[in-house]
Amino acid sequence: MDFEFTEELKAFQMTVRKFAEEELAESVEELDEKHEFPYEEVSKMADLGLLGLPIPEEYGGEDAGYLAYAIGVEEVSRISASLGITMAAHTTLGCMPIKVAGTEEQKKKWLPSLAQGKMLGCFGLTEPDAGSDAAGVKTRAVLEGGEWVINGTKCFITNSGTRISGLVNVAAVTGEKNGRKEISNIVVPHGTPGFEVAPAYRKMGWNSSDTHELSFQNCRVPEENILGKPGDGLKNFLITLDYGRIGVAAQSLGIAQACLEASVEYAKTRVQFGKPIGKYQGISFKCADMDMEVELSRTAVYKAAWLADQGRDFSREAAIAKLYASETAMRAASNAVQIHGGYGYIEDYNVCRFFRDAKILEIGEGTSEIQRIVLARRLGL
Ligand SMILES: Cc1cc2nc3c(=O)[nH]c(=O)nc-3n(C[C@H](O)[C@H](O)[C@H](O)COP(=O)(O)OP(=O)(O)OC[C@H]3O[C@@H](n4cnc5c(N)ncnc54)[C@H](O)[C@@H]3O)c2cc1C
Repeated sequence: MDFEFTEELKAFQMTVRKFAEEELAESVEELDEKHEFPYEEVSKMADLGLLGLPIPEEYGGEDAGYLAYAIGVEEVSRISASLGITMAAHTTLGCMPIKVAGTEEQKKKWLPSLAQGKMLGCFGLTEPDAGSDAAGVKTRAVLEGGEWVINGTKCFITNSGTRISGLVNVAAVTGEKNGRKEISNIVVPHGTPGFEVAPAYRKMGWNSSDTHELSFQNCRVPEENILGKPGDGLKNFLITLDYGRIGVAAQSLGIAQACLEASVEYAKTRVQFGKPIGKYQGISFKCADMDMEVELSRTAVYKAAWLADQGRDFSREAAIAKLYASETAMRAASNAVQIHGGYGYIEDYNVCRFFRDAKILEIGEGTSEIQRIVLARRLGL
C-alpha cells in the first residue's frame, strides 16, 4: 500500500497551489462581494489545463486522471469555492456525459472546446419537481423530422448563463418502456432557438459561481445530439454523478483545509485572558478535531479518485468521500467562525465566506440523505 503521490502528482499539486495563491486569490473577495463570474480567472485556469484534467489528450484534455483532478479542485477550492465548483461542474457534469456515453464523432465535436476551456459545459438534470428523485424529470423530447423537440424547465444549473457557456447535457423523457419512463441525454448548445436562460439566482454562497433556471420551448436539436441510446440517460447521469461526487468531495476538502489554516492562525494570535485562545482546550480541541477530519476526508477523496483512475468501481467510495468531506467542511466552517468569535461573522474575515460556501456541499449532487440511502442500499437495506 503506497500513500505517496508520484513525483509528477507532487509537482502538479505544488503548481496548482502556487497558481491559486498567486493568480486567483487576489480577486476572490471582490468578485464574491459583487456576485461576479470570474472570467479572467477561469481563462487562466484554462491556460493551465485545469478545465480538462481527466479528458484524454486526443480530445484536447490533459489525460491527467481523476486523482490529479481531485487535487486540482481541492487546491482551487482552498482559495475559492466558487472557482472550485466552476471547474468541477464543468469537468464532471459538463464533460463526463459526453466522455462516458458519446460516440467518437460527438467526443471529437464537443470535448476539445470544453477541455480547453473555450466553452463551459453544464448538466441539466434537476427540475422544479425532480431533485433527489431524478427519475421524476418531466422535460420531454419528441423526435420529429430528424430533430428532438424539447419542452421543459431545469433549475439550479451551474455554469449555464455565462458568456462562455457552450452546451447543456439535458435529461429528458423520450418515451416509455414497460410502463417506465425512458430518460435520455441530449446535448443542447447555447443559442439554440427555444432555449432560454433566466436571470441568475441570488444564493447564500458560491457567489461567483453561475446558476440559472433554464427553459426549453419547442427547442429543436438534431437527432444525433442524443448521447447513447434512448433510455440510457438515467444510467449515464448516475455514472456522471459518481464522478461529480469526487469533485464535490474535493471541493469540501479544499474548504475544510482553508478553515483549518485560518482557525489555527487565529487561535495563535488572538489573545484573551492574557493568553492566545489556542492555549485553551475549548479552542485547541476544535482545531485538533478539524485536523483529524480533514485528514480522513483527504484519504477518502484520494481513494475514490485513485479507484476511478484504476478503472475500478468507485461508486461507494465516491458516496463516502462526498458525504464525509461535505459534512466535515460544514463542521469545519462552523467551528472556524466560532473560533473567530464575532469577527468570524464579519465579511472582512474569510471564514465568513467559507461558512456561506460550505452548506451547499451537503446538498448538491446528491444530498447527505441521498448519500446515506446509496450506502444503505449497498448494505442490502
Ligand atoms: C447552487 C446550486 C447548484 C446546483 N447545480 C446543479 C447543476 O449544475 N445541475 C443540476 O442538475 N442540479 C444542480 N443543482 C441541484 C441540486 O443537485 C439539488 O438541489 C439537489 O439534488 C437536491 O434536490 P432538491 O433541491 O430538489 O431537494 P429535494 O430533493 O426536494 O430534497 C429536500 C430534502 O428532502 C430530503 N429527501 C429527499 N428525498 C429523500 C428520501 N428519500 N429520504 C430522506 N430524505 C430525502 C433531501 O435530502 C433534502 O434534505 C444545484 C443546486 C444548487 C443549490
